[in-house]
Amino acid sequence: MKISKYKLVVVLFTAAVVLVALACPNQKNKNELPWDALARKDMVYSQIVARGVTDERVINAMLKVERHKFVPKDYEKLAYGDYPLPIAEEQTISQPYIVALMTEKIELKSTDKVLEVGTGSGYQAAVLSLLVDGVYTIEIIESLARSAATRLEELGFLTVEVRYGDGFLGWPEAAPFDAIIITCAPSKLPQPLVEQLAEGGRLIVPLGEDFQILTLYKKVDGILEKEEITPVLFVPMKGLIEEK
Ligand code: SAH
Repeated sequence: MKISKYKLVVVLFTAAVVLVALACPNQKNKNELPWDALARKDMVYSQIVARGVTDERVINAMLKVERHKFVPKDYEKLAYGDYPLPIAEEQTISQPYIVALMTEKIELKSTDKVLEVGTGSGYQAAVLSLLVDGVYTIEIIESLARSAATRLEELGFLTVEVRYGDGFLGWPEAAPFDAIIITCAPSKLPQPLVEQLAEGGRLIVPLGEDFQILTLYKKVDGILEKEEITPVLFVPMKGLIEEK
């Protein structure tokens, strides 16, 4: 049988197209991001960068941490919205912008050691762990401390140390800390935390009872310099702070 040159070219071309299609079956889907990555990108640019967060490392960490894995299943699809969300035990995971803002304000270096008071879901600790070598986080509700520790381990955030206890007392064995981030609201600054802040260290806290102001402190020559940033609304700090 004689095949014309033209037919041969058509057959070879068709075969090549079929082979390429077989080799890359999901080419289209491969270029499309999954819903959560798209939602995260939108969250970062429309809520966080749009409001003035510029630190590339913070932005990258917020793009990476899968926030929907830190909220209860029913709230998964809301995880990238511009608001705090309920977790268990009547506590909340903070609004994404506030997490980014607090993280940026404490000006972390990769060699810094950070203490978080108020582990909650573990989300803020996960973000911190992408920026520094050592993250210590304390939670006063035992069930939350346990579930956050399990979640962080399962998701591979292996450098975060979680402790069940009252963050008012800090973590003396691991002190001093280059930065301390308090994610529940005390009526006044817990003195043990001030003592556990390193020289040059930064401490950020939603300070106040009914009305809270996000406040940044820097320890310079043993003295705290204070900067008030913005009004916020966090759950109150519990435990020893209520007795003092
Ligand atoms: N950072 C968390 C959200 C914090 S919600 C996240 O990323 O999900 C505030 C948390 O602080 C709550 O879980 C609450 O139980 C905890 N908390 C309140 N008082 C505390 C205290 N004295 N010591 C440690 N944790 C405390």
